[in-house]
Amino acid sequence: MPRVLGRTLEDILKRIGLFGGTFNPIHLGHLWAANSVQKKFGLDHIVFIPSAVPPHKSPDGIEPAEARLEMLRLALDKNPYFSASDVELNRKGPSYTIDTVRYFQSNADPGTHFFMIIGIDAFIEMNTWKSFQNLFNHVPMIVLSRPDDAAGATESFFQRVQHFLMTHISTDYVFSSDKSHFSHPHQEVVYLFEHTMLDISATMIRKKIICGETIDDLVPQPVDFYILEKGLYR
Ligand code: ATP
Ligand code: MG
Repeated sequence: MPRVLGRTLEDILKRIGLFGGTFNPIHLGHLWAANSVQKKFGLDHIVFIPSAVPPHKSPDGIEPAEARLEMLRLALDKNPYFSASDVELNRKGPSYTIDTVRYFQSNADPGTHFFMIIGIDAFIEMNTWKSFQNLFNHVPMIVLSRPDDAAGATESFFQRVQHFLMTHISTDYVFSSDKSHFSHPHQEVVYLFEHTMLDISATMIRKKIICGETIDDLVPQPVDFYILEKGLYR
């Protein structure tokens, strides 16, 4: 296999990010993060995967899957690099990330490389997920910093990722000299992406709607219109 700039051709041709979340609703923070990751990691495509019944979130205040998927469609419509998947919505019962990763990996062309994209707040709670340790055997991860999350944290972004890995996965992770990733003799790489992210959360958006405030600077315009038209989050 020929190598180009240190990577194989296959590696360059098929690099896909899997970005899961409740997306209740999708907002500009998600889009900004996905754009930045796509550029930095040279991803060919990012798939946004809304969860059906988040196993670790209270169902209160979560709009139906169809509405969250429709808002994703509206938000991603114009971007040829982004799309939404209904794989978790069509699965019966709670949606588990390990099943989703395996689904994509087993249905993709040989040579396709998948990367799981996850914010630091979700990353450090992964020990509550089903078969979370298995994920570290199966898929490289890209962990994103998040400004709203760092406010209460006493440890740095790097320390929080390291702490999680050492406590829950393995003490054999080694931090790269260029400070970009953790590697391990047997597990997949965990990349750190500390970048300027937007201080926006879906919780903030839902609160603003309840208070009668506008959210037109926090979500794409078609999503704002959809929320207004359907009377969501009231
Ligand atoms: P909620 O407040 O309801 O938890 P949220 O804004 O955190 O919503 P999620 O659907 O929970 O959105 O997040 C999906 C993924 O996107 C998670 O991995 C989360 O860490 C990440 N994420 C969400 N908002 C941002 C942001 N502003 N910058 C970077 N990553 C984000
Ligand atoms: Mg969240």
